[in-house]
Amino acid sequence: MGECVDVVVVGGGVAGLWTAWALRRAGRSVVLIERDALGAGQTVWSQGIIHAGLKYRLPGSSADASRAVAAMRDRWAEALGLSGEDVTPANLPDLRATRVLSRRTWMWTTPSLASRAAAKGAALAMRSGVRALDMSERPEGLFDAPESVSVYAVDEFVVDAGSLLASLYAAVGEVRTASVTSIRDAGASVVIETSAERLEAAQVVLAAGCGNEHLLERAGIDHTPHTQRRPLHMVYARGKLPPVFGHCLGASSVPRLTITSAEHEGATVWAIGGAIAEDGIDRDEAAQIAAARAEIDACLPWIDLGSASWACARVDRCEARAGGKRPDGAVVREWGRVIGVWPTKLALAPAAADEVVGVLEAGDSPTADRETSPTIRGWDAAFETRHEPAPVAPLPWEGALRWV
Ligand SMILES: Cc1cc2nc3c(=O)[nH]c(=O)nc-3n(C[C@H](O)[C@H](O)[C@H](O)COP(=O)(O)OP(=O)(O)OC[C@H]3O[C@@H](n4cnc5c(N)ncnc54)[C@H](O)[C@@H]3O)c2cc1C
Repeated sequence: MGECVDVVVVGGGVAGLWTAWALRRAGRSVVLIERDALGAGQTVWSQGIIHAGLKYRLPGSSADASRAVAAMRDRWAEALGLSGEDVTPANLPDLRATRVLSRRTWMWTTPSLASRAAAKGAALAMRSGVRALDMSERPEGLFDAPESVSVYAVDEFVVDAGSLLASLYAAVGEVRTASVTSIRDAGASVVIETSAERLEAAQVVLAAGCGNEHLLERAGIDHTPHTQRRPLHMVYARGKLPPVFGHCLGASSVPRLTITSAEHEGATVWAIGGAIAEDGIDRDEAAQIAAARAEIDACLPWIDLGSASWACARVDRCEARAGGKRPDGAVVREWGRVIGVWPTKLALAPAAADEVVGVLEAGDSPTADRETSPTIRGWDAAFETRHEPAPVAPLPWEGALRWV
């Protein structure tokens, strides 16, 4: 017999951490298992934008996707302590130690008519949270843009993924480092064997990002009809650069560039995503850097790139299958005692966690009394057995990138 708990959550990215927190808060005993370091999959690569729906208001985007992300923004603001309240509401983890890198993003255009029309359309469709800026109000990185470039401030914020993971870890209290070797339905429970121990649970939640493919197979479920990967070829620039947070719009539903900034070892690092990262998957490193430089010259011609060094990285977005397109929201799927969760976006992690809690509650017997259940003790015990310190994966510019 192994240790018995209500739920084993596999994967310590934003989805697994938030879900483990939500399940514990709902009174369940939870063991969270991470194979590597917290967020080692997609979360540390994330640009950290808590979207307000703007990106999803561009021509060709789905209104459902826009609603799903917009609904999350206020919850994040409360959890991060940005809503003006002194205390985090009880239904949210306390994420006030997370570094908020920018309180807003900017959407800017090129002088082309199509680009300006797309931005105007997106701003109108958003109805609130987007404001056209006068020349005098433009932020540092867009200060020297000519008048023919439209600039908008967007009410969405950008978080540092590393400190977000550390805050979530502090809220959850414990993670066990191990890799899952087998998942077996034993009738009355599911048995999870890891490299370190044997666990028995009523449910196992697979929140392992790209690792869900392998874990589903381990559980005897063919992952191919349920999962998809959408690759990115991200570009990074490092040097004496102004901080830029936001999207340069062309005419399509994907911004030409989405840039976020971080300070590292006395330099600014830009993470450069958007269409350049989606369209560049077949380019080699040199061609991708050249393409990114050309896009920056088109979208930010007033910025001097002379001091910059460059790096690239290939990262997959691992999602629930949606015909190769981005799913409209967070996706939770259930196969008996096995539940798979794919948040689709970092911003949608709270929605993913809510849905997992809902699925488990729907399966509870009507007589179950979670408030007085002994599983509440699991919640307290988590804090007593906390591992030191938060084992967060390094951000890309802290390790993985090779600069040229
Ligand atoms: C380049 C890039 C930029 C992005 N930018 C944004 C953005 O600005 N805003 C936004 O909202 N979203 C963004 N996203 C999407 C967002 O990052 C992801 O949707 C989100 O991080 C997924 O979180 P996750 O917890 O599901 O997966 P992951 O972060 O991949 O976490 C999965 C975890 O499971 C662990 N694991 C894997 N296999 C096993 C196993 N067998 N046993 C135990 N543990 C295992 C991994 O080590 C990892 O820690 C971006 C994604 C990418 C790739």
